Amino acid sequence: MAAEIHPRPQTRKPVLLSKIEGFQDVVNTAVIIPKEDGVISVSQDRTIRVWLKRDSGQYWPSVYHTMPVACSCMSFNPETRRISLGLENGTVSVCLLNIIHTHTSHQGGVTVVLFVLEMEWVLSTGQDKSFTWHCSESGQQLGTYQTTAWVSGLQFDVETRHAFVGDHSGQVTILKLEQDNCSLVTTFKGHTGNVTALCWDPVQRVLFSGSSDHSIIMWDIGGRKGTAFELQGHNDKVQGLCYASHTRQLISCGSDGGIVIWSMDVTRQETPEWLDSDSCQKCEQPFFWNFKQMWDSKKIGLRQHHCRKCGQAVCGKCSSKRSTIPLMGFEFEVRVCDSCHDSITDEERAPTATFHDSKHSIIHMQYEPTRGWLLTSGTDKIIKVTCAFVCICACARGLWEQMCKYCPV
Ligand SMILES: [Zn+2]
Ligand SMILES: [Zn+2]
Repeated sequence: MAAEIHPRPQTRKPVLLSKIEGFQDVVNTAVIIPKEDGVISVSQDRTIRVWLKRDSGQYWPSVYHTMPVACSCMSFNPETRRISLGLENGTVSVCLLNIIHTHTSHQGGVTVVLFVLEMEWVLSTGQDKSFTWHCSESGQQLGTYQTTAWVSGLQFDVETRHAFVGDHSGQVTILKLEQDNCSLVTTFKGHTGNVTALCWDPVQRVLFSGSSDHSIIMWDIGGRKGTAFELQGHNDKVQGLCYASHTRQLISCGSDGGIVIWSMDVTRQETPEWLDSDSCQKCEQPFFWNFKQMWDSKKIGLRQHHCRKCGQAVCGKCSSKRSTIPLMGFEFEVRVCDSCHDSITDEERAPTATFHDSKHSIIHMQYEPTRGWLLTSGTDKIIKVTCAFVCICACARGLWEQMCKYCPV
């Protein structure tokens, strides 16, 4: 096999390439068709549209289909050009732009749909808190599993047939699927809000979960040590996650329009457990609930805080400074104790993520790796296609989207 050269594109400010407008309601899911200047959209306005780029640079709908009810989710497979549509009436339709078959999967709307080519399965979850999988050829139901809460994130590992199901209780359930039954493997609990997005990287065997608690957790499943890393870089609900495997970057977006591009090429550290103490672990002053020591020492108790770096319970006076700790996922300044503050070097403070503003409140995001394009759809009923990479390979010809002609990708 010929050696493959992977140029390392640098992240830059995403440049807006195109805007797609004209929807009556929000676009719930949209995907860029790889290698073509096309976008498929499904909207709350009940339409499924295929947009093709004209010479003028504008996208025009070449296919326009109105469904009986709103389309809540979609999964597109570029190889078979198959679209799996989840509708608000609980049905899943598999189409090749013409509908192949429709099956009722759920009572209530479909929340996530996922097509798995290798298994010929369509996985879906619904407002009825059920997870089902159907044969994508016949539409026959193969199996079902009742989840604890409404599901908004679903990923599947083809090699081991594990499904990752993220729900509104904040938990991620891992199921091992067989042809017609499944078994519960384990659950991950780490978020204090709903799980809003999941992203599985089958190469590193890492699962990313995003939540309404503004945080992202990276679950290192391949490492087999039960490690989980936090990524704190959003000021609002995390709405979407994509992993760019060729550049080893995680792309996350939030409902405040923020897009964060995280370098996953760095060795990250777990955040420490918060320690419990009745007095400050630095100056030994009692905390306010420690009446005995307060009485004995005739001192007024203090409020307890925690250093994000060492996890020690400290008073406000001993943790007066703030710092970013990017390798622990804290891209924003957090409370640290004075000794940790002094020990953090400028090198350790160097950010591992870049921050961008999409200028609309994001509902859905998709990353198209062959050109490095990012698609976002917002509450403003607009789809934006941006490019966030600069090619710095040997030829140095410029933009990522112009690179493919000259460089191996
Ligand atoms: Zn103290
Ligand atoms: Zn500390």
